[in-house]
Amino acid sequence: MEPKNLIKLRELDATKTNYTIKVRVVRLWRKPNNKNPNEIWSIEMIIMDEEGTKMQASVFKTYFPKFEEHLRENECYFIFRPTLADNDAKIKHVDNGQKISFRWQTDLKKCTTFKGSKYGFEFTNFGSILKDPLPQYTRLDIIGYVYKCYEVEKKPVRGGKEAIKMEIKLEDLEGRHIILTLWEEYCQQMLNYMQNKQQAHVFLILQFGNLHIYGHNRTVSNVYDATRLFINSPIDEILEFKKSFLSNIGEETSSHRSVGTSMVSSLEDEFLNDIDFINIREINEIKEVKSLIVVGKIKALCIEKSWNYRSCDLCKNGVETTTVRIDKGENPADFEVAKQYKCLNDNCTQTIVSSPMIRYKIPIRVQDCTGTVTLTMFEREANKLIGRIAKDVLDEQEQSAEFLTLPAAFNVLLERKFAFRIEIKNYNLDNNAEYFSITKLTEDLNIISKLEKNFYNNQVEDSDSVNPSNSELPLQTDVSLKDSISCTADNGTPISNSNESMGTAASVDLKRNLEDVYDVDESSALSSTKQQKIHTKDLRDANWNETLLILKTEK
Ligand SMILES: [Zn+2]
Repeated sequence: MEPKNLIKLRELDATKTNYTIKVRVVRLWRKPNNKNPNEIWSIEMIIMDEEGTKMQASVFKTYFPKFEEHLRENECYFIFRPTLADNDAKIKHVDNGQKISFRWQTDLKKCTTFKGSKYGFEFTNFGSILKDPLPQYTRLDIIGYVYKCYEVEKKPVRGGKEAIKMEIKLEDLEGRHIILTLWEEYCQQMLNYMQNKQQAHVFLILQFGNLHIYGHNRTVSNVYDATRLFINSPIDEILEFKKSFLSNIGEETSSHRSVGTSMVSSLEDEFLNDIDFINIREINEIKEVKSLIVVGKIKALCIEKSWNYRSCDLCKNGVETTTVRIDKGENPADFEVAKQYKCLNDNCTQTIVSSPMIRYKIPIRVQDCTGTVTLTMFEREANKLIGRIAKDVLDEQEQSAEFLTLPAAFNVLLERKFAFRIEIKNYNLDNNAEYFSITKLTEDLNIISKLEKNFYNNQVEDSDSVNPSNSELPLQTDVSLKDSISCTADNGTPISNSNESMGTAASVDLKRNLEDVYDVDESSALSSTKQQKIHTKDLRDANWNETLLILKTEK
């Protein structure tokens, strides 16, 4: 028999008293105390009624003795006499401004007659994720085929700690792809699955995932605790998806790539199979938006201006610093001047950024045997090499007496040879801007030597190309010197190493496009349309000094 005063979650409002709800606990986690992470502050849940309406629910630690041992994920309950609280979380796991709160008068009873859905998935399709006007950090459920997993990366986080992450390319039934980033325990869950089971086809569901929007780039990640990850689980939604997916492939076996073979993509894959390899001198001859690979040594750092930028904490885009006048009373002479940060991303929901994040934007001079180029290294790669987050480096720099010199931590970058994946953007083409964003780099000797071997092979095959004679090299050096006036490293004289001369490389024509793999969040900060509006000068002859000034609109 159903209890009296049973009420549906959608009908709940502040006028209701003494009611009972019949729900399934879809998700349950323990929330630590912010001040003392070893202490559990509350049990947090996402509950769902038979109609599928979801709500958050909390049990404060005071009531643990009464409820803790009875509450289980996936179980169904009657909850008698809870109370309704304001859900004041900035980002809510469920689109509901209120939440259920347990109190002394609350009672709990297991329910065996629950008729609703087992998991309550509400999938957002990839087309909508990629195009629809969804707000940043929307919670969503996704289902997809694991098209590719990328290698696990370690990322420095605050306090000298490291977090692990893995990117996964998911495919839907229409062949659309999105990138899912799994962090920490969710990354570990995927790794464990891959180590223990060798399934040809892997399908997954991410429930209560998080949408990230950086410029035109949209990716999904887990959030801590609330997210649920199901990998090849025998649940109806996955089995159905699998059936449709496999029958889709069956119809076009000849054209479809071999499924499952690319479970783990190696770095090699990303650098050798996807995009054009080019020598540094030829970069400026490219007149289209594209990704390129160059191999070169970091010879200097152009950082007397700025190696970091302030970014919006919501969208990672650059912010503009303005000063505002705050009147303190009737007297016009009585006022204060305060700094205000405005997000430069038109698509961001946050206009005023109260606490901008500091992120890396390190201009480096990279050289091969044909020339030198300025590349910009952003957060993702810089914190991997430097091993610290930009904020920590800046704090330390500000406390030291050598505020105007470059941080000593950056010396680890010098004289190292990398394969760089760089982007030619509209911004570069429109403004003749000769500095390019790095989206990925590797120091893997095997990859570098294979790339350089391509270079030689092409030289032999491509007999029509003009190989630079040694007499051309000094000219190249002159150009480099002029370019690098503002470089501050001890060896500011980038001279080509002529005995390594490799000649002109014809571009290796490589097919697959990994465009959407990388979260080029940081780089988008530089091509924001608002920043471009500041351009009034023709930049054709601009040198690095001038371009830096334009980039530094946040100051
Ligand atoms: Zn923003």
